[in-house]
Amino acid sequence: MFSITSSTTCGIESVPVIVETDVSNGMNNFTIVGLPDTSVKEARDRIRAALKNSGFPFPRGRVTINLAPAHLRKQGPLYDLPIALSILVSRGEIPQQSLSDAVVLGELALDGTIRPVRGVLTTALMARRIQKQTMFVPKENEQEAAVVPDLHIFGVSSLRSVVDHLLNRSKLIETIYCPTETTQNEQHCFSFIKGQALAKRGLEIAAAGGHNILLSGPPGTGKTLLAKSFPSILPPLTDEESIEVTSIASIAGKLHSSSGLIKTRPFRSPHHSSSAVSLVGGGTWPVPGEISLAHRGVLFLDELPEFPRHVLEHLRGPLEDGVVTISRAQAPVDFPARFQFLAAMNPCPCGYATDPKRPCVCSSFQVQQYQKRLSGPLLDRFDLRIEVSNLSQELLLSESLSESSAVIQSRVVIARKKQADRFIDTACHLNAEIPHSVIDQICHMSAEAKQLLALAIDSQSLSPRAASRVRKVARTIADLSNTETIEEHHLAEALQFRGQSTERF
Ligand SMILES: [Zn+2]
Repeated sequence: MFSITSSTTCGIESVPVIVETDVSNGMNNFTIVGLPDTSVKEARDRIRAALKNSGFPFPRGRVTINLAPAHLRKQGPLYDLPIALSILVSRGEIPQQSLSDAVVLGELALDGTIRPVRGVLTTALMARRIQKQTMFVPKENEQEAAVVPDLHIFGVSSLRSVVDHLLNRSKLIETIYCPTETTQNEQHCFSFIKGQALAKRGLEIAAAGGHNILLSGPPGTGKTLLAKSFPSILPPLTDEESIEVTSIASIAGKLHSSSGLIKTRPFRSPHHSSSAVSLVGGGTWPVPGEISLAHRGVLFLDELPEFPRHVLEHLRGPLEDGVVTISRAQAPVDFPARFQFLAAMNPCPCGYATDPKRPCVCSSFQVQQYQKRLSGPLLDRFDLRIEVSNLSQELLLSESLSESSAVIQSRVVIARKKQADRFIDTACHLNAEIPHSVIDQICHMSAEAKQLLALAIDSQSLSPRAASRVRKVARTIADLSNTETIEEHHLAEALQFRGQSTERF
């Protein structure tokens, strides 16, 4: 019996899967155990054809493949290449020791060429963890694997080429990490957005402290443009975050071939017709959804009330915990989902309820029904709510550029550095994540600020959750002005952003 190491993913981690092969005398038979039933037949057919078309006769006798451990869920096509190679080893076509310190994965086409698979980056991280030296991966996934240092990566395009390499007939060239430029999120710059000082200030605060933000206003006021410009003021990803983000994209099958690590923060804007599964993740073989693809970046939902309410309710848990759990009969799967939530909406179905120039044509019943589509608890999760209004003609025609994204980003970076120092050795990274138990200690307020908050709790009937969110926003505002104690004017600004557009809900 002979074995080759491959892998499977659990959440965003890969774990080893051992492909064991046994060829014995008896009736011709090819059995694979350890895979879900439906994919076994397909795997058998592909492997048989790929071997034949690569010039290797399929062995006579009883061929048994076991994918261990049995209790782990495995996705079929990944194991085609390791199974085919282990059959060749057991027939003595290639020496056993040539694969003993390797991790192998790849899907075979019928003609023996190798197709790309998902989760190669996490497999490479696993290979290093279990101290393997070499990896054979599909050519199209080679840059993804080469992200991980200290491994010899070989990108392979056909079964034949791997065999020739292992037999020293024709050596493959080891992959060097040189990713092509990834198509980055189209970056908009704040300097091209005229006016909207209040909205820009709100977005700066949100970026600095990781707060969620709701933009409301009539159509054509630039809500979408403001939202799309938001990533340009966020700090760049750290190396660790970059690996997380790339791993999720890889597992979801959304990573471009030949691109390496993702360096820019994700910005995901799913349409309101998206299903709950595509938003939060799921499927028979659980894949990450939009909220996980937005991990460490931004989830933007335009026209928020158009999203079905039951779909939006799925966001509440992940917004609190930064993780989404997909329940499965065998074992639940966790995907990280720590994103900043950005949404935009019109104030009413026609859109002009808050427009001073155009009359709103909706009945009060229509407006009520429209706003009822969003639940109170969901709205509660927006720390800043900003009314975006039409610009005056004078401002629209002015040619002066506003402050650039780079300048705003530099202030955001300083405020985040303060938070990093504050939260060193804790699970929390940003002011928005401050746990309730330490809020008094971290969001220390002056006597005047305390008084103002007490007043607001009374007059605006703020819930305890809302009050603590206001304090966290005030903490960020104080950080942006480099102050340790939250002063009255910091809290007033936080309340102003909280209060915006609340009276209608
Ligand atoms: Zn209206």
